[in-house]
Amino acid sequence: ASFILSFFYLIVWGCLSTLLRYVSQPAAPNRPETSSAKTLMDIGTRRIFTEDHDLFRRSVRRFFQEEVVPHHAQWEKAGQVSREVWEKAGEQGLLGVTTPAELGGIGGDLFSAAIVWEEQMYSNCSGPGFSLHSDIVMPYITHYGSEEQIERFIPEMTAGKCISAIAMSEPGAGSDLQGVRTYAKKDGDDWILNGNKVFITNGWMSDLVVVVAVTNREAKTAARGISLFLVEDGMKGFHKGRKLEKIGLKAQDTAELFFEDVRLPASSVLGEVNKGFFYLMNELPQERLLIADMAIASCEFMFEETRNYVMQRKAFGKTISHLQTIQHKLAELKTEVCVGRAFLDSCLQLHAEGRLDSATASMAKFWASDLQNKVATQCVQMHGGWGYMWEYPIAKAFVDSRVQPIYGGTNEIMKELIARTIVAPS
Ligand SMILES: Cc1cc2nc3c(=O)[nH]c(=O)nc-3n(C[C@H](O)[C@H](O)[C@H](O)COP(=O)(O)OP(=O)(O)OC[C@H]3O[C@@H](n4cnc5c(N)ncnc54)[C@H](O)[C@@H]3O)c2cc1C
Repeated sequence: ASFILSFFYLIVWGCLSTLLRYVSQPAAPNRPETSSAKTLMDIGTRRIFTEDHDLFRRSVRRFFQEEVVPHHAQWEKAGQVSREVWEKAGEQGLLGVTTPAELGGIGGDLFSAAIVWEEQMYSNCSGPGFSLHSDIVMPYITHYGSEEQIERFIPEMTAGKCISAIAMSEPGAGSDLQGVRTYAKKDGDDWILNGNKVFITNGWMSDLVVVVAVTNREAKTAARGISLFLVEDGMKGFHKGRKLEKIGLKAQDTAELFFEDVRLPASSVLGEVNKGFFYLMNELPQERLLIADMAIASCEFMFEETRNYVMQRKAFGKTISHLQTIQHKLAELKTEVCVGRAFLDSCLQLHAEGRLDSATASMAKFWASDLQNKVATQCVQMHGGWGYMWEYPIAKAFVDSRVQPIYGGTNEIMKELIARTIVAPS
């Protein structure tokens, strides 16, 4: 009987330990990377994502196909998107994805935010300025805003009812942010704001603008005399200039903003007075990361668009995909895009863990946006004359690419930032 009992224990223990081993093991890393996936835009790829992310990606993809793609041509003519699409994006939970739920956001992770950036590029619709609103402006308010500012703006921004912009650049100051002239002068408890800004994304539609202004002209360095203000549409003296006509991003409203004696209460200051420049330096790596991720996503889109084109375009009796020059070009581009994707996924992972440094974010921005322009040029070339026609998606992707090495800090400035860490005295 004791032999039977020991045998029984042995079997039970064997089953339990197998079960425990199974439960404690990490999920099998069987998600393919893009280099081995069927297409570069496949759902269910890349080890930084999970099946929950795949479900989210499916819904975001559907959103862009149903709510954005059908209207985009009309928005390109209008030079802006509709307010409705902002509110629909809000209803779908696509705005303020990483903003903590307790502050009025969605409370998702960085990878979910990246899905929204990437799916927008896969839809080839650059109109809605969602990423700037959600992942550039909203963090300023949640990181530096007062309780009152957070309560007032964040839920409305998440709902797409309050559209936001950030106004740093001026006609005379772009790369050199310390050269801004917009000035806020103290008047009792209030501030009086004067100056003008240019190239402001979402500027025309904005309900709320984070404005960079000088508050101390006598500061030891210009950087120590800059503050951020929350300026609302409709405030007396705040005027929006024309929507600027651009060579790309046709459906995105980029505007000039003018401030003439705008009286701002003390509660309009974001964070502490004269700390604005340091806040900007803290937040810029995320802006650069999102530009870089969108650049690689655009490369993935352009590659697939071109692969489809060359597989059906005929010349000399065969599809041009039979030509070795085309095949080698595609092989080169796919390799470069997959190398870029691997670096970007690593940067996303680092940023999700709070470990992405400014120089690495700058490397990603400079390299990915340059690659995007290279891929765009080569893909237009493989489309021949049709690639130059607006009705072809590749033409739109080509013109949209051009600004990526310019905004978010030019690529020359990125190299300055990277170089500083290389030659810094140890
Ligand atoms: C479509 C679009 C949207 C934009 N959206 C916004 C926005 O929402 N908010 C906002 O504030 N701004 C926005 N910008 C502005 C953008 O950030 C600036 O255009 C950019 O920072 C460059 O500034 P700049 O145009 O004044 O060029 P400049 O600073 O005049 O630069 C001109 C050239 O000189 C080079 N250069 C300048 N300084 C150096 C240096 N130290 N070393 C090496 N080279 C240098 C530059 O790299 C560039 O090639 C947007 C711009 C565009 C085109």
